Amino acid sequence: MKNFFNVLLLLLIPLLWNCAFIKWCIETRYDAPLTEAVIPESTLAFLDSLSKRLLSGDDHLVLHRVDSINVDSWNNDHDFGRRDSNGFYVYEEDTMFVIYSDKNDSELLAKTLEYARSAVRPLEQVMGQYYYPYMVNGRKLPLYLCTDEDNYQYACRSLCNDEDDYSNTWGLCVQSYCGYDVLAQGITLNYGSMSRISRDPDLDLKATIWHEMNHYVYFQSIDLSKEITMHTWMYEGLAEYFSSNVKRQTTSLDSVEKKAVYTNTLEASFDPFLFNYSGGELFYEYLKATYGERVVLDFIQDIYTQPLSSALTELGSGMDKARQGWVGYIEKHYI
Ligand SMILES: [Zn+2]
Repeated sequence: MKNFFNVLLLLLIPLLWNCAFIKWCIETRYDAPLTEAVIPESTLAFLDSLSKRLLSGDDHLVLHRVDSINVDSWNNDHDFGRRDSNGFYVYEEDTMFVIYSDKNDSELLAKTLEYARSAVRPLEQVMGQYYYPYMVNGRKLPLYLCTDEDNYQYACRSLCNDEDDYSNTWGLCVQSYCGYDVLAQGITLNYGSMSRISRDPDLDLKATIWHEMNHYVYFQSIDLSKEITMHTWMYEGLAEYFSSNVKRQTTSLDSVEKKAVYTNTLEASFDPFLFNYSGGELFYEYLKATYGERVVLDFIQDIYTQPLSSALTELGSGMDKARQGWVGYIEKHYI
């Protein structure tokens, strides 16, 4: 009889424990994740510097730290572009993208969608993967196509929730993060400015979409639980390296950029700011020319989860050797 009670007790204890665990899971399923505390300090410092700094140049990247990303935020029904008062047309026939446009121009919308879709496969090849809606809680990537420069400014300010001046930019990728979650608020496109300035606005529209979508994939891919370094040249250079498949901007360096080659180290963002785009792109180009495309892919995978110094060690290089190789490559081909 005593044995019977012992066996019963042995069966009951795990059963009760499991019941208590299931109850806790159900009760806490909508709580905000308490994971931010384990984002390493150095990674948080990089993320904060991105949130605070207004980046200047042709393309921006904005990453905001928010208190919480609730379940509804992923649903496109709550996008800024859908609010009645702002006058954006909504195009959502596509399974991956939703376009909010200030002009009901079917030809331009079809072109924008085609350019966005054309980036998906190349992103998978260069970045290792693309983030389809099913991988981000069903969220389609919102594109804000603005043919009017004031509307562009309005869309940027609304997504960024500030009053900064975005008029000198052609595109913006706005994302928010909380804990380990990164949510893409949307990509804004200044087609009004492209049409006014560019000789080929459609080519610039496509290159800008590719650039901003590269930011989308990069920041979805980084592992915030790890110690990582995100110097500006690393992600702006990568976005330029990728969008060069559409339009190559770094065909020559001006005298200031040429000088910057000798004064910048790889361990910080570059100065002057625009050199992050050209100098950064040429770093990836140097890697490809020296080690091949496969190694560039490995390096990109490594910087999602490791500091730059470790990723370079994996390459069999190291910081000093990589800098020497990068400077030597630019000297040979661009100076
Ligand atoms: Zn950018």
